Amino acid sequence: MYINENYLKLEKNYLFINIAKKINEYIKNNPDKKDNIIRMGIGDVTLPIAPCVVEAVKKGAEEMGVKETFKGYEDSGTGYDFLKEAIAGYYKSFGVEISPDEIRVSDGAKSDCGNIVDIFGDQNIVLITDPAYPVYVDSNKMNGRNIIYADSTKENGFCAVPDYSVHADLIYLCSPNNPTGSVFNKDELKAWVDYAIANKAIIIYDAAYEAFIAEPDIPRSIFAIEGSRKCAIEICSLSKTAGFTGMRCGYTVIPKELEVVTANGTVVSISQLWGRRQGSKFNGVSYPVQCGAAAVFSDEGREQIKVNLEYYKENARIIAEALDELGIYYTGGKNSPYIWLECPNGMGSWEFFDLLLNEINVVGTPGAGFGKNGEGYFRLTSFGDRDKTIEAVARIKKLLQK
Ligand SMILES: *Cc1c(COP(=O)(O)O)cnc(C)c1O
Repeated sequence: MYINENYLKLEKNYLFINIAKKINEYIKNNPDKKDNIIRMGIGDVTLPIAPCVVEAVKKGAEEMGVKETFKGYEDSGTGYDFLKEAIAGYYKSFGVEISPDEIRVSDGAKSDCGNIVDIFGDQNIVLITDPAYPVYVDSNKMNGRNIIYADSTKENGFCAVPDYSVHADLIYLCSPNNPTGSVFNKDELKAWVDYAIANKAIIIYDAAYEAFIAEPDIPRSIFAIEGSRKCAIEICSLSKTAGFTGMRCGYTVIPKELEVVTANGTVVSISQLWGRRQGSKFNGVSYPVQCGAAAVFSDEGREQIKVNLEYYKENARIIAEALDELGIYYTGGKNSPYIWLECPNGMGSWEFFDLLLNEINVVGTPGAGFGKNGEGYFRLTSFGDRDKTIEAVARIKKLLQK
């Protein structure tokens, strides 16, 4: 009996398990402080899904209960036309032309980010920005791939830049970024597209936080960049956009013209290859959820989800304002629900985590959990309650102003 030995090389403890452990230990030693703890580390949304989305899901469920409108397996398994057309219309609203048949509806961005690597050879060199969302690293380590890192640091504003002295075949980019909250502007993203074309590489672009972009000049899709249709796959999700973390729906866009030439000269369509993979291992997203997802992109839905997005953005603004007052360097907070701050006084990530937990009962996420460049940094999120965010910020100010 053999197992995939690569799994044994993965980091043993997932970041959030370590955090939970530390919190539980603190509560065990300080039971009276249990209710005083404010969690600013959560990467999950907290506001409910919009009313018109709830209605659409209900209507979809009711259709399933009537013989005439009941739906079994979806023919294509790539998403119903009504949803793909709604997504294409959404892209159009910010000036990006995508054909509905280039869209595949999924159960979320995480699965597609992880599974997309199935269609690429294990010999490929994978470039991942550091720090990064752990899924990119883990899903490639599972296949034993060579990973190289592009540094996101204070020097480049946590927007990694391509280095032409190294070659990569697959490139993961995430903007607005988790964990750093930083965003690529058009020129920065164009530099990556140029690098990908020069290396005959493919960019896997994670746009999960696209809906948080506030500044009009910041690209909301990699397909806003010239040349990207020949070198990029975009993966997106309704999780953060519309509170779908528990509903499960996302989509992946693969342009028709995205092709690779294999070692023996065969031209292969990436869209067809991914279709083949999904056709064998994935059977689509439930009909009521797709009804709800389509409602997100309706005029009414977009108005309603905006209310939640504005709520989170205001939380982010409150956190950022306090850091400005304290003179602490940070990225994010403007086009992103995340604020990525430099730990004060040269403290390490976990040291700062302990300080906040023990002294003021505020929990954040140590940057070191996202890669080597995360050491010395700390992530706060805006997904909490307004009152708690204000209270946490007041405690942080009081602690660090001394
Ligand atoms: C939350 C998140 C996702 C979304 O994952 P889902 O599976 O759609 O819930 C994708 N990428 C990043 C970077 C995220 O933070």
